[in-house]
Parts: sequence; structure tokens; C-alpha cells
Amino acid sequence: MLTVDQALDIILRSVKDVCHESIGLDRACGRILAEDVIADSDLPPFDRARMDGYALRSEDTTQAPVTLRLIGEVAAGASFNGSVARGEAVKIFTGAPVPDGADAVQKIEVTERDGATVTIKEPAVSGQFITPHASEIRTGDVAAARGREIGPAEMAVLASFGYASVRVARMPRVAVLSTGDELVDVSEKPTGAEIRSSNGFTISSYASRAGAQAETLGIVRDTLEGTVKALETASLGRDIVITSGGVSMGDYDLVKAALTSIGAELYFDKVSIRPGKPTVFARRGETYFFGLPGNPVSTSVTFNVFVRPAIKKMLGAADVSLPAITACAARDIKDGSSRRSFLPAGVFVRNTRLMAEPLKWGGSSDLVAFMKANGLIVVPEDVHEISGGADIQVMLLNPF
Ligand code: AMP
Ligand code: MG
Repeated sequence: MLTVDQALDIILRSVKDVCHESIGLDRACGRILAEDVIADSDLPPFDRARMDGYALRSEDTTQAPVTLRLIGEVAAGASFNGSVARGEAVKIFTGAPVPDGADAVQKIEVTERDGATVTIKEPAVSGQFITPHASEIRTGDVAAARGREIGPAEMAVLASFGYASVRVARMPRVAVLSTGDELVDVSEKPTGAEIRSSNGFTISSYASRAGAQAETLGIVRDTLEGTVKALETASLGRDIVITSGGVSMGDYDLVKAALTSIGAELYFDKVSIRPGKPTVFARRGETYFFGLPGNPVSTSVTFNVFVRPAIKKMLGAADVSLPAITACAARDIKDGSSRRSFLPAGVFVRNTRLMAEPLKWGGSSDLVAFMKANGLIVVPEDVHEISGGADIQVMLLNPF
């Protein structure tokens, strides 16, 4: 059986980057940069005042208090024509260019204006309250690298360098199918052994959050013809089709047979992971298929471990996997499995230490318990017992 790392390696080696598109900056937040963002100007473009006060020559103030002659003022957006000579000062406002000749700004709070003169009450050090020209970035430098996710701070960088539009990775098109005769729609009341289908919502939400354009195509009944037809339709124009359920060993587990019947190449159908062993990965043409197990916790775990990296890889993202951290086990943990386990966990801070603790859960169907998990404790294949206080690896489910 493949290890988690081997399976992930197969996925990452086979999925290709999607193509790129140009979009308006106002729609770019959340997308992945498909080009380096280049500074088209120095920042700051001039020596810039960081305080309201007086621009002056620091050497004039070593014997402060000292009275200087006021020769003018410069506000943000303006510039001063002329230069500050010995014994002179220019009134300056935050954000304004520091006039030639001046090498420091003294803040208004330690000055006293008297008509055409100003008394500087404390010495100013050379460079004080000045952000030097180009100290943040120089023209031509890479301000944000390709592969970086565009968040609010990246928006500021893009706007500052004139990116009214920006090249980003096209959002991978993802279709989601839920297989199972026991499933009813959210709007229906289950009777007998029926349950409401929830996986489609989970998967499409995770997929959107990962940067895909996800569409939930509904419930597929457990027949070979039905599954084949649904997979055929779902794959049209899609980069990824994700199914839930129908991948175990039962008579009604038809996803693999359906994939074979549509001519998809099966890369793997089992991984040494818990929960989620029967995870399937296949490809036909440009479309990749993930068959995730049906139990909601297994679905969520396998999505995060295998599908999210595939979507991120398609996007050309710099980081494909969920961030992993080291935390302190809040109590003893037992795990009899020889597969790699991903235990739904609470991650929290106690006395400034990052702690993690497996949630009490009723197994891989327990979607209510899983809702409270903000991490997955990763228990390696050969580890079966962890003592409270030990360092453990945790994948964060809500990446920052
Ligand atoms: P399966 O992998 O098809 O054997 O499904 C295992 C179990 O997962 C089923 O018995 C259901 O309880 C549950 N399940 C399957 N599909 C869904 C779904 N779409 N939403 C919620 N639970 C599901
Ligand atoms: Mg089923």
C-alpha cells in the first residue's frame, strides 16, 4: 500500500499548472499571482518625513534649545523649492519630501513657533524621522513573487506599482458528486436508513477555499450506469472531479469500476492513511479524479491531505499543503494504527504554549465533533503512543 507521502508525490507529479488570465485588481484578492510584481518606482520616491514638525540641519541643534529661521513649509504632495541652509528650518508635514539641505526632522511637540522663527528644544539626530528614498524598495525589484496568494496587503503592493490588472492562475474548475443510495437532499426529511447528504457542501467549500471554482452536481445513485454517466458529465470542461462514497469494498462501491469504464487511468486506490484508506486518484485526459471515502471525517481528511495540494499545485501556489506546526500534546494519545493517522484535534494556547489535543469523537462519521477541530494531529505510521507533554505535528485546518 502507498504511504501518504508516496500518494501525494504521485498527485503532485501528475497535476499540471492551469493556464493564466488577466483580471482587474478589484477582483484579485484571494487569487494566486502568475507573474512577479515589479516595483515601477522607488518607495519612498523621495526622503519622506515621518512626523509633523520642522526639517532642519541636525548639526544646528546639538546645543538645543536653539532658535532657527523659518524659510517656508512643505505639505504632503508638495515640494519645497530651495534648500535649507545653516540656521534655517522648513515646516514639514508627515509624508512630505524633506527639502534639500535638511538631514533631520524634529517633531512639532518639542518645538515652539514664534512668527518667523522656531525654537527647537531638543537636539535632532541626523536622519531622525526621515524614511530615506528607496529604503522600502527600488525600481525593478520584485515586490511579490509569482505563486504568492493575493491578500489585502498584496493588494496594496499591486496598487502602489500600478497593477490595474494582474496576471493570476485561472481558478481550477472542480465538480463534486456525492454517491450513495442512502442519501437525500438537504431539503428532504430522511426516513428509515436515509441520511442527508453533507459531503458535497464540505468538499465544495474546501475546494473554493483552496482557490477553485467548485460546483456541486448533486447525488448519484449506486448503479454502474448512473455513476458512469455522472462522471462523464462532471468531467466535461473540468480540471478535477471529486466524488464521495463508493470507494470501499462493498457491492455498491462502484466509483472505481465507473472510472475504469470511462477509460480513466487509476493511479492508486488505497493509501496507508487513517481515516481514508480507500482514497482513489485517477486521470482521463486533462481531468483528474479523486474518489474520497464517504464518511464525512474521512472525506474532510482526505480532501485536505490529497485534493487541496492538487488544487494549489494547479494554481502554481508556493505552498500546497496545509501549514504544519509543532505543538505540545495536551494529554496522552493512543493510536493503534500502523497507517499514518490524522486525528481531528483542538489546537489552543495554554500559558503561551501551543497545545493540541484529539477531540472526543465517535469515529469517522462524527461530523459534529469534526466541526470543532481546528487541526489534525499527525501520528506517524510507527508511533502508537504519545505521552502528554511531547512534541507533536499538527496540520492547521484553518490556514492563516
Ligand atoms: P461509502 O464510502 O459509500 O461506503 O460511505 C460510507 C458512509 O459515509 C455511508 O454509510 C454514509 O453514512 C456516509 N456518507 C456517504 N456519502 C455521504 C454524504 N454525501 N454525506 C454524508 N455522509 C455520507
Ligand atoms: Mg456508498
